[in-house]
Amino acid sequence: MKCPKCSNSISPLRLWIKVRAYPFIKCSKCGARLVRKWDLKLLISIALAAGVLVLLSKGLSPFLAFVLIAVIMIIDGFSCKLKEV
Ligand SMILES: [Zn+2]
Repeated sequence: MKCPKCSNSISPLRLWIKVRAYPFIKCSKCGARLVRKWDLKLLISIALAAGVLVLLSKGLSPFLAFVLIAVIMIIDGFSCKLKEV
């Protein structure tokens, strides 16, 4: 994940922690306020996570469901794009 303004790399972890507390992430280098772009990849991630929850209700082990959702979140965190607000 990179800042679209200065190409400073931003940890995907910050996306998941910060977005909950604030509506945007602040770039630590240039101070640009960034939000994530809604794109097809995000919709696919949400669809996959929803699929895991459906499987969970049909008897998938909760541990496996947790692992699958963690993997989806990590892949999404690395592949998502940011834009400046
Ligand atoms: Zn920046």
